[in-house]
Amino acid sequence: MQRVATCSCGELTVRCTDDPVLVSMCHCVSCQKRTGAPYGLAAFYHKENVQVSGGYRSFERSSDSGYPVRFHFCGTCGSTVFWEPFRKPGMFAIAVGAFGDPCFPGPSQEVHTESRHAWIKPLKA
Ligand SMILES: [Zn+2]
Ligand SMILES: [Zn+2]
Repeated sequence: MQRVATCSCGELTVRCTDDPVLVSMCHCVSCQKRTGAPYGLAAFYHKENVQVSGGYRSFERSSDSGYPVRFHFCGTCGSTVFWEPFRKPGMFAIAVGAFGDPCFPGPSQEVHTESRHAWIKPLKA
């Protein structure tokens, strides 16, 4: 099974084989600022199951884990489509929204709940 994630304008395309290894919801303020949404949603895939086509620009920042994270976004429309968490060197994280698929598997974990917006219910009650 293959799923395709793209930026807003379609120039940057990422093809992923199989289901993600992990889908993680991140409430940290950095993810809020990156997405413009109250949380980020990342699907983790082994790099060998990901094929990137199209140009992109990159932005690297540090994270609480002490390992940097390098985000890749379309140079034309600015959508972040995928990134590399240095804490998980064999993996790409793909922005779940970039798949535009309402049937995409939901998150199995959430992190940085200390900055979760008040109206969002905990994932596991
Ligand atoms: Zn684009
Ligand atoms: Zn985050």
